[in-house]
Amino acid sequence: KAPRLVVIGGGFGGASAARYARTAFPHVAVTVIEPQKSFVTCPYGNLLLGGSRNLAAITHSYDRLKRRGVDFIHDWADAIDPVAKTIKLGGGGTVRYDKLILSPGIAIKWGALAGYDTGAARIFPHAWVPEKGEQVTLLRKQLEALPDGGVVAFSIPANPFRCPPGPYERISLVADYLKKHKPRSKILALDHKDAFSKQGLFQDAWNELYPGLIEWVPGSKDGKVVRVDTKEKIFETEFGTRHKVDVGNVIPPQSAARIAVDAGLVNETGWVPVNPYTFEAVRAKDIHVIGDANIPGAMPKSGFIANTTSKQAVASAIALLEGREPPKDPIYFNTCYSHVGDDYGISIVGVFRPSEKGFVETPNSGGVSPRGPLAQLRDQRRLEAHYADSWYASITKDAFG
Ligand code: FAD
Repeated sequence: KAPRLVVIGGGFGGASAARYARTAFPHVAVTVIEPQKSFVTCPYGNLLLGGSRNLAAITHSYDRLKRRGVDFIHDWADAIDPVAKTIKLGGGGTVRYDKLILSPGIAIKWGALAGYDTGAARIFPHAWVPEKGEQVTLLRKQLEALPDGGVVAFSIPANPFRCPPGPYERISLVADYLKKHKPRSKILALDHKDAFSKQGLFQDAWNELYPGLIEWVPGSKDGKVVRVDTKEKIFETEFGTRHKVDVGNVIPPQSAARIAVDAGLVNETGWVPVNPYTFEAVRAKDIHVIGDANIPGAMPKSGFIANTTSKQAVASAIALLEGREPPKDPIYFNTCYSHVGDDYGISIVGVFRPSEKGFVETPNSGGVSPRGPLAQLRDQRRLEAHYADSWYASITKDAFG
C-alpha cells in the first residue's frame, strides 16, 4: 500500500512540498488539505497596492498540482491527533496519515494590539494573510478613495513576523502610488522596532524617490502603536500620542496558525520548535512543520524559505518512514527581493545550515544590494526589479505549476 503523505496548507510551503513529493517520490500518495480553491500570494500583493498588478496576477490555481496526481480536500483541518495519526476535517470526516507536513502559515493575535479585532480589520486592514485576497483588495480600495492630502499610517510589529522587509516594500509602493496620484498625501510609518531589514537601502530609496513623503518613526521615538480606535480613526502610541489617520494598515503581532497551536506543537513563543535537519516538530513525532509556523532561527519567515525547506522536510519525512537516513548536510537558501518603485529592486540574500543550535547563517555567504546614488546604480536597480519578477514567476511555478 502506498505510504500516505498528508499536507495541511496549500500555500508556499504546502504546495511546494506536495509538488516536490509527487515529482521525487511518485510511489507516495499525496493529499493536500486546504480550504481555498485557489491561492492568492502575499508576495506581490504590495504591487497590487501600488497599482502595477491585479488580483488575477497573484492568484494561482491548484489545477496543475491536481493534474500531477496530488489529491486535494478543500476543507479546514480542524484537529490533529498525533497518536492515532489522524486529522479531523471541519466538514466532518477523518483523514489518516503516515507522515504529515504542516504548513498552515500564521495566525493574527487578535486583541494583542488593543482595539484590533476581526471587526477592526474591516476598517484598518492588515492584508498580511492570503485568504482570498479580500484584505489586500480592501486596502487598495481605501487608497483609491483617499483624498489628496490624506494620511496613510502603518503600524509595524516587533520581531518575529512574516516577511521582515514586507512592511517597507509596502510603504515604498504605496508612496509610489501617492506620488503619482495624490502627491500632497503623507505616509506615517509607526514601528515597534528601531531597525529593520535592508533599512539603509530602503531609506536611500525613500529620500531619492519620495522626498518628504514618508515619516518613519522608530519604536524608541514613540513609534509603538498600542491601541487603535476605528470609530475616531486613531492610532495611539505607547507615549499616548493620538495620530488621526485616513487609511490605516495594521500589521499585527502574529503566531503560528491555530491548528499548530491547538495541536500543542508551539512553545512559549507561539511558534513551533522543529528539528533543523528534518523539520519534525520537537513536540510530536511524524509531523514536519515548515513555513512561517516554525521557529526558523537565523532564517526569515519568507515564501522562499518555505519553498526551499519544504524539500528537505519531505525527503526527510519519507526517508524516516521507510527506515532510511534523512538527506545529510542540507543547505537552505533565501533571497528576499523588494520593489521600491518603478524599475527599482533591492534584495537580501542568506545561506543557512542546520546545527545543534538550530538554523544558522553560513558566515560570509549572503549580503544585500550595494548602496549609492541612483544615478550610479540605475542598471543594478533595474536588473534587480527584473530578477524579482523572474523569482516570482519561478517560485510560483515550483509551488503551483
Ligand atoms: P501560507 O503561504 O500563508 O500558506 C498557509 C496556507 O495554509 C493557507 O493557504 C491557509 O489557507 C492554509 N491553512 C491554514 N490553516 C489551515 C487549516 N487548519 N487547515 C487547512 N489549511 C489551512 N516571501 C518571500 O519569500 N518573498 C516576498 O517577496 C514576500 N513578500 C511578502 C509580502 C507580503 C505583504 C507578505 C505579507 C508576505 C510576503 N512574503 C514574502 C512572505 C510569504 O508570504 C510567507 O513567508 C509564506 O506565505 C509562508 O508560507 P506558508 O506555507 O508558511 O504559509
